[in-house]
Amino acid sequence: MLDRPQSTAEAPILDERRLAQAMSGHHLIGGRFVPPKSGKTFAVVNPATGEEIGRAAEGDAADVDAAVQVADAAQKEWAKMASRKRGALVSQCAALLREHVEELARLIALETGKALRTESRVEANTIADIFEFFGGLGGELKGETVPFAPNVLSVTIREPLGVVGAIIPWNVPMLLMALKVAPALVAGNAVVVKSAEEAPLTVLRVCELVNRILPPGIYNMLSGFGPECGAPLVAHPKVRKVTFTGSVEVGRIVSKAAAEKLIPVTLELGGKSPMLVFADCDFEKTVAGALTSMRFTRQGQSCTAASRIYVERPIFQRFVDAMAERVDAMVMGDPLDEKTDIGTIISKEQFGKVQKYIDQGKATAGADGRACSAMPSDPALKKGLFIRPHIFTNLPDDSPLVQEEIFGPVTCIFPFDEVEEVLAKANGTEYGLAASVWTNNLKVGMELAHRLEAGLVQLNQNLVVQANLSYGGVKSSGLGKEASLEAMLEHFMHKKTIMVNYA
Ligand code: ADP
Ligand code: MG
Repeated sequence: MLDRPQSTAEAPILDERRLAQAMSGHHLIGGRFVPPKSGKTFAVVNPATGEEIGRAAEGDAADVDAAVQVADAAQKEWAKMASRKRGALVSQCAALLREHVEELARLIALETGKALRTESRVEANTIADIFEFFGGLGGELKGETVPFAPNVLSVTIREPLGVVGAIIPWNVPMLLMALKVAPALVAGNAVVVKSAEEAPLTVLRVCELVNRILPPGIYNMLSGFGPECGAPLVAHPKVRKVTFTGSVEVGRIVSKAAAEKLIPVTLELGGKSPMLVFADCDFEKTVAGALTSMRFTRQGQSCTAASRIYVERPIFQRFVDAMAERVDAMVMGDPLDEKTDIGTIISKEQFGKVQKYIDQGKATAGADGRACSAMPSDPALKKGLFIRPHIFTNLPDDSPLVQEEIFGPVTCIFPFDEVEEVLAKANGTEYGLAASVWTNNLKVGMELAHRLEAGLVQLNQNLVVQANLSYGGVKSSGLGKEASLEAMLEHFMHKKTIMVNYA
């Protein structure tokens, strides 16, 4: 039997390898760790070394059914609780998560290869923020009064949907899970989460911690592969809402399956986010902004990564050089080392995909690809999935590197001359998630903010998703919003009309 932490008095476990073992081999259903019905597990690998750090339960339709049945029963009681009480419990979860920031940060760094200082600790802190934000909204699940006729009181009230199936990816798994689970719970739903096969352990720990506070059965977690575990979750008759973050390709599959059942679906898919830089920008701030916009510290594995940068011609070359110089100074290395800025790609599969794009860019006639940052020299990391950040210039607009989501540390920079020209290019992909404009001319900036096809446009900054601000794309980047009060009300509740005739 595994050394499994179960006690509510458990202090944070800062030995990430021990915690990975403790999180191995189980789903979490009804507030308890349960083994997969098939008995099957799969390896979870540290991408910085290639070593197996634990094993995840390989869920299938039988496990999905067990979790959904438990969630369905628990949801009926949860929905009866006063919504502010539900919110208060979710706020308590935030406090507990905050006590565990360091352990969660260490485990996610081990599991995903994201650097502790620049990424993993940030993600762990952010999930506490998200639980806190939604926990405070329990009193806001309001409806409306509707004028209808004298002596008829007509009102709308908001009700939860029931059991929510949540499917999450591996890039910021705790954060993307929190954006789904916290509002779904406050709204009175129960959730069954299917984790990504590349990163199942840390999210399971989050679920375990939070289950110390919440009633059993309203927050359940399964691990497993997409077709075997994700698809039956979407298809289960008692799942009344699906929320998905992942690729466009799988988003379409999930959307079709949800349409078959006539249930609502929220989709957060890919992006090819443009960054528009004008010659009048604050140069140093914008170069620094390009590094964070491109999410180099997350190896570019972000839907909102500024993977297309358009720079007004007079400052183009200076900008490319300054950016390359700064990226060069970033330290690639052991994700658990505090000195490290950039960790590893998540998996061999993703590594191969990103490398292929880089090779394609290098083979493009006339294109220039600059590799920045030195590879780590530590022999313990020789099997690590490190890829040097690449900055490409002189690529044609129809290159796959310019049109497709790479999900790696690769950006393309182009010069531009005219506003209309750069706007057409910025809007010229199938995606519409995020965009940023860097200028001191507010008139130009605001006009572009209106005309850019994106769910989120930022001027002179390019932050990641923030609690309280609606987040979600247009075009192939998705359907629906997350992260805000409005998103919780619109996507995790329905409105019931009640009419009272007192004539
Ligand atoms: P990535 O390309 O980054 O792996 P995916 O879209 O493949 O992104 O995966 C995102 C999530 O969707 C993962 O949890 C994965 O297991 C799940 N998934 C993959 N295929 C399916 C499917 N057919 N039905 C439901 N979920 C799926
Ligand atoms: Mg996949």
